[in-house]
Amino acid sequence: KALISLKDIGKKYLIGSEVIHALRSVTLDIHKGEFVALMGPSGSGKSTLMNILGCLDTPTKGQYILNGTDVSRMSDNQLAEVRNKEIGFVFQTFNLLPRSTALDNVALPLVYAGVHKTQREARATEVLEHVGLGERVKHKPNELSGGQRQRVAVARALINDPSIILADEPTGNLDTKTSVEIMGLIEEIHRRGNTIVLVTHEEDIAQHAHRIIRVRDGEVENDYANENIRSVS
Ligand code: ADP
Ligand code: ADP
Repeated sequence: KALISLKDIGKKYLIGSEVIHALRSVTLDIHKGEFVALMGPSGSGKSTLMNILGCLDTPTKGQYILNGTDVSRMSDNQLAEVRNKEIGFVFQTFNLLPRSTALDNVALPLVYAGVHKTQREARATEVLEHVGLGERVKHKPNELSGGQRQRVAVARALINDPSIILADEPTGNLDTKTSVEIMGLIEEIHRRGNTIVLVTHEEDIAQHAHRIIRVRDGEVENDYANENIRSVS
């Protein structure tokens, strides 16, 4: 059974009297443990699809089943609950709290989940060690390099043990060498059994994924297994 099942997903926006079809009809399944890259030109509907996959928004047409639950018509509060449980986000701009330490940034999702402080800190320390930042737990974002900041963001995404990691242009603000390091980390997370959906417009970055889905004009233009996987390790 698929972890993610999209059936005839559409999303339209009304701007005055104009209807914009951000997504026309998207049907696809993603299984547990897959590493998928989502590509497409600007305006093709990638962000809209990512927002729906990440339960930040709902479709105006079709059905989205996530881990056995129909999330297609949920309220914002219901979506927030599903999001906290099922999804780990990694963004281009890291989105860390500037005044909080790496440890507190990573532990934050556990505050919402009602986990006790001692357990939060133990779990956050463990995940920071996993991403190679065991020596940096007390540092604030401005005391860390770009690559280290993104490692903190990856640790934060992993802390709730989510069903899927959604990474939106995770290397978009990093130099080439650091991008390769972060892709190595994402590969390692994938090898540990996590399901990854990566949005990128960079062909080199997409080649790390095992499956590539190309979106154009709000539809899947093509969807294939990547035969030329480019691996860091
Ligand atoms: P991409 O991420 O591939 O650049 P988007 O999903 O952002 O594509 O956009 C797809 C289409 O939907 C574009 O035409 C865009 O202008 C439109 N669109 C996206 N979000 C909104 C919105 N909130 N309101 C109106 N139109 C939108
Ligand atoms: P883009 O990839 O189109 O440049 P962003 O990556 O900034 O856009 O954001 C993509 C979507 O995720 C937007 O709809 C935005 O509102 C949402 N988003 C961005 N940061 C967060 C966050 N920290 N928590 C929840 N939603 C976010």
